[in-house]
Amino acid sequence: MMQQFASDNYAGICPAAFNYFQQANQSGHELAYGEDIWTQKVCDSLRDLFQTDCEVFFVFNGTAANSLALSALCQSYHSVICHELAHIETDECGGPEFFSNGSKLLVGKGEHGKLTPNIIEAMVTKRSDLHFPKPKVVSLTQSTEVGTVYSVEEIRAIAAIAKRRHLTVQMDGARFANAVASLNVHPSELTWRAGVDVLCFGGTKNGLPVGEAVVFFDRHLAEDFAYRVKQAGQLASKMRYLSAPWLGLLENNIWLKNAQHANAMAELLYQRIKDLPKLRIMFPRQANAVFAELPLPIIKGLHAKGWRFHQFIGAGGCRFMCAWDTQIETVEAFANDIKSLCEAA
Ligand SMILES: *Cc1c(COP(=O)(O)O)cnc(C)c1O
Repeated sequence: MMQQFASDNYAGICPAAFNYFQQANQSGHELAYGEDIWTQKVCDSLRDLFQTDCEVFFVFNGTAANSLALSALCQSYHSVICHELAHIETDECGGPEFFSNGSKLLVGKGEHGKLTPNIIEAMVTKRSDLHFPKPKVVSLTQSTEVGTVYSVEEIRAIAAIAKRRHLTVQMDGARFANAVASLNVHPSELTWRAGVDVLCFGGTKNGLPVGEAVVFFDRHLAEDFAYRVKQAGQLASKMRYLSAPWLGLLENNIWLKNAQHANAMAELLYQRIKDLPKLRIMFPRQANAVFAELPLPIIKGLHAKGWRFHQFIGAGGCRFMCAWDTQIETVEAFANDIKSLCEAA
């Protein structure tokens, strides 16, 4: 299939990750369930990357990473504060509630897909009686579901409120790499140095075949997490195939280069289409997506030309997502098709 803008998970495995997948397969027999040398090496590399002694676990996908991380932070009578567009609310089929045995998600509205300290403060203080599930966690998506990013200052301010209100901070980092690339800061500055307790670090959309890392910066919170992973059916017996490809991403900062490339392609697309008639850009272009409102006939015209992309955020809202391998030629071809349809309309 030709390159598409539907999701960054349409892209394949990046060569650096694939190289380690093969190396792990050529090294003979190995210990199972994460006792292997590859998994040990990746955990150490992630500790090096974040410059702290974090606890690391690997699961198959982001839904499991978020659901299990949140279940480790909550009792069944607790609640999780998140944005109304958060993946945990809209796209995980109740996984966080299920794995936490009923913790409720409390959704807040906020501009550009982001929560703010004021929104969180209002949600925490709204009720304090025992008839309402007690807020216990703030979940932030970085980069957000609408392609924006929280700055270091924004995360620090949210974490400060969270700390004052005795909430932990979990980060859905399915596109964490794109946020780091966008802000050009050290990954530790966006996480534990800013007050984040647990990061679900996305690998799939960054170029892995499969898998996400759950990184606990507060090691106490990781107590018994291995049991949750196993019980949820997320413990890979041939763990090396989940972990080794991470070495390819981490070596030479390929994870960052992949994200920088995806972001740059989104910027190129943004530049090509932002001033077209009939088209309205919906959110600031900060990571690897461009969101645009288009009239239905133009959307239909793009589909007729074979382009695939998701429509949500109300009628006419289109999401154009770039990946680690999106080619300039693909962006130009897509932008030209949008342009000719907009100008003919
Ligand atoms: C893709 C994505 C996930 C993970 O989804 P899975 O399909 O379960 O791997 C989590 N959060 C966000 C914001 C995502 O975009």
